[in-house]
Amino acid sequence: MPKPLREDDALLAAARDAARRAYAPYSRFRVGAALAGPFGIICGCNVENASFGMTICAERGAILAAVAAGHRAFDRLAIALPDSPADAPATSFMPCGACRQVLAEFVGPEFPVLIDGIGEYRFAELFPHPFVLPPARASAAGPARCDPT
Ligand SMILES: [Zn+2]
Repeated sequence: MPKPLREDDALLAAARDAARRAYAPYSRFRVGAALAGPFGIICGCNVENASFGMTICAERGAILAAVAAGHRAFDRLAIALPDSPADAPATSFMPCGACRQVLAEFVGPEFPVLIDGIGEYRFAELFPHPFVLPPARASAAGPARCDPT
């Protein structure tokens, strides 16, 4: 059972705002995600593509943006789906399996996931058995860099 949401939660408001920036010309189903951490809030929205397999979800968009900005520690995630019908089942509000697996790379079982209109879940409630590999040891050459210095 999810915990109830606070309607005035700033993270939910950020997720709702991110959904307004979604690029969803095919599904017309906008999704926004807002990730909170020591850095503040980083948002993502779904970005569809005519080649549907290339579409990226809002949740992964937020995580990838945060990691690209140098952040790997997160406090909470909020997801907003303003185009979801009022009578849609709660299952249609949940993050997809790909997003859950990507989240599992960075968050633990107690990580809070707020789903607009539904409630707040612990990550373990959404994804109880993630696929996890131990990190590889660093190579002698050190980490790759994107700047050519
Ligand atoms: Zn997804």
